[in-house]
Amino acid sequence: MTEFELIEKFFQQTPKRSDVVLGIGDDCAIVEIPELQQLAVTMDTLVSGVHFFENAAAFDVGYKSLAVNLSDLAAMGARPAWVTLALTLPEANEIWLKEFCRGFFELVKRFNLQLIGGDLTRGPLSITVQAQGFLPVGKALTRGGAKVGDLIFVSGTLGDAAFALKCLREKIPVDESALAHLHRPEPRIELGEEILTLAHAAIDISDGLAADLKHILEKSSVGAVIDVEKLPLSDALHAAVSEDEAFALALNGGDDYELCFTAPASLADTFCEMQLPITCIGKITSQKTLELQQNGKIYHGKTAGYQHF
Ligand SMILES: [Mg+2]
Repeated sequence: MTEFELIEKFFQQTPKRSDVVLGIGDDCAIVEIPELQQLAVTMDTLVSGVHFFENAAAFDVGYKSLAVNLSDLAAMGARPAWVTLALTLPEANEIWLKEFCRGFFELVKRFNLQLIGGDLTRGPLSITVQAQGFLPVGKALTRGGAKVGDLIFVSGTLGDAAFALKCLREKIPVDESALAHLHRPEPRIELGEEILTLAHAAIDISDGLAADLKHILEKSSVGAVIDVEKLPLSDALHAAVSEDEAFALALNGGDDYELCFTAPASLADTFCEMQLPITCIGKITSQKTLELQQNGKIYHGKTAGYQHF
């Protein structure tokens, strides 16, 4: 099959949006940004053998390559709209492509996106996705707005993806729910939109809570205290490892793609009423350090309890 036949067969299945004037098939796509909206743009590359195992299921590769980008849009509170895809393939393996597209388009359809263009080339397997979403003018949720006294929240549970990855690397059996966290993370798009006008700062957790929270602290020129007892851990992780190990995975493991955000303490009740899938894990302080506590005392576990940055 030629490049054009492959595109026709696999990539024209995208939903069509009314704000796309011209989609796949010309030199460029033409799109229309709604009035009073700004465009949030993000891009990520996944390379075989670096970001995923060489024998990874094509469905999961397709799903995750888009999920990680949608997670970045969620972290800014943006509503996803369009996506472009650059796919480098060692060969035109139609079985692989079909499965890749099944994973990729599952999220495209769920979030009402349109694939508006891309590139298909031959070479070592690598996937680059660019996602674009809308934000009301001037309202983006950035890393820079955290204020002293803010509470710190995270969505979902933490550490499951890192635990699954550790098990795969060490060839230890691991249950399906932990694997799902690693291979098919849930982009927190709805949550991002819900907190857009309420939160002060946000980030998505791709490199581990501690590392990503530090980006907020640096950009906002503040510090934080985290209570490790409050870290949201799944039952599966609780059951599989020691408490210290679970805290370490939740703090330093990557690939969770949950949101971490700060908001005024006065909003705690509002969040509760909104029944958001979030947990309060600590608060923003004026000391420019990230301090870990356990029940009010400095935490002396496996992870450093006191980190300057
Ligand atoms: Mg990010």
